[in-house]
Amino acid sequence: MELKNQTLIRTKSYINGQWCDADDGREFVVTDPATGAELARAADCGAAETARAISAAQQAFASFKMTTAKERAALLRRWHQLIMDNQEDLAVILSAEQGKPLAESRGEIAYGASYLEWYAEEAKRAYGDVIPTFANDKRIITLKQPVGVVAAITPWNFPSAMITRKVAPALAVGCPIVVKPSEETPLSALALAELAEQAGYPAGVFSVVCGTDAAVIGGVMTSNPSVRKISFTGSTRVGKLLMEQSASTVKKVSMELGGNAPFIVFDDADLDAAVAGAMASKYRNAGQTCVCANRLLVQDGVYDAFADKLAEAVAGLKTGAYTVEGANVGPLINRAALAKVNGLVRDALDKGATALAGGVGTDGDSQFYTPTILTNVTAEMDIFNEEIFGPVAPLYRFGTEQEAIEMANDTPFGLASYFYARDMGRVWRVSEALEYGMVGINEGIISNEAAPFGGVKESGIGREGSRYGLDDYLELKYLCMGGI
Ligand code: ADP
Repeated sequence: MELKNQTLIRTKSYINGQWCDADDGREFVVTDPATGAELARAADCGAAETARAISAAQQAFASFKMTTAKERAALLRRWHQLIMDNQEDLAVILSAEQGKPLAESRGEIAYGASYLEWYAEEAKRAYGDVIPTFANDKRIITLKQPVGVVAAITPWNFPSAMITRKVAPALAVGCPIVVKPSEETPLSALALAELAEQAGYPAGVFSVVCGTDAAVIGGVMTSNPSVRKISFTGSTRVGKLLMEQSASTVKKVSMELGGNAPFIVFDDADLDAAVAGAMASKYRNAGQTCVCANRLLVQDGVYDAFADKLAEAVAGLKTGAYTVEGANVGPLINRAALAKVNGLVRDALDKGATALAGGVGTDGDSQFYTPTILTNVTAEMDIFNEEIFGPVAPLYRFGTEQEAIEMANDTPFGLASYFYARDMGRVWRVSEALEYGMVGINEGIISNEAAPFGGVKESGIGREGSRYGLDDYLELKYLCMGGI
């Protein structure tokens, strides 16, 4: 990796303000998914190092919670500025370890940093209330206070933004936080820690523990009584496990889990806009986001026209490493991801689907999956129920609005949903009927720091971003003042 600022490449964990090797000296290899080449070796920390980070956070909490919102805002703003000053280098690190095109990485760094700026402003307004009393000699007051030490576990698909989305509200309200990034993408997390150190965060307030034994690190985080909150983004399977483990010490939890996003195109949609939205929602990050369109439901009258226009757009996609000019679809993250996507496409083709584009799997022995469109897909195929996490668009056909709503809601998940329509009555009816935490209406990209991101049903608990995201890191305390 060629960087302007090589100090951003950190390979040790950042615990209590120190860069630390693993206690037993073990390391793990970080690879470039586009080439399989080794990028770095990172410290492979485990239970003892995690416990140390938590204990440092607990110690730091005593003084950090006494800082003013304005002081914490100044730190966040400094960190935000440092991230934006180093945007290009951070984007290169991100693309190298994760595979997404450089333009997307630049976007992710700015998007991730925007949460720091947002919560620097928002935390100053964590107001309590004076509630009209029920008795004249008493007064009812509420205060908002930081929940305490937070532990966060984050995924590889947004190695930078999924960290800042949790760390920003925590630090804004005075909660120290220990982060375990994905073992696929530790370098982006450690680069953020380097800049947090430069911004002037006190030791222990923000630690990053990297390691390959996620179950062990997660076990310490969920069982340690000093940790008052777990914030997780990842699979529904692991989220459920962490909720179970957190029950023993009754921790607060925020969970951003899997999705199975419907993308509905009605007869009255602007088809060109729908195609543009589908391209952005489906093929961004090679289809590896939890809000990617997972099921494209298209009404009879426009099914063929939409499919043709989508195929035309998909023909313009180019797979390639972030170093290849013009490439806009990167590799899948690893072999397991590849095997999963291959299996889903094969099952659909075996059960009668047709490949309108792609359908051929990978390009040689690489981890680049050829962008694919499947038509004649039905709810009986595995791909209807599974999160694809790859550049594959399955097109389902429907007749009526009611049928589309029933198909869209026919899943245990409820994160993002999208639909394209112009009839005002339909826009309201469908928006209200979709059992999802987020609805994109004539929009394929909906995430931003000002809006509440989160899911219902098995897609999660809590919201990230917006003024609502702050509440997940605050306890509401009720004061009853008597004898007045
Ligand atoms: P994905 O399938 O997208 O990799 P995971 O849920 O497996 O999603 O991974 C998300 C994060 O959860 C990663 O940081 C990973 O290391 C971590 N993780 C995986 N298994 C566990 C576990 N048993 N306990 C705690 N964290 C885990």
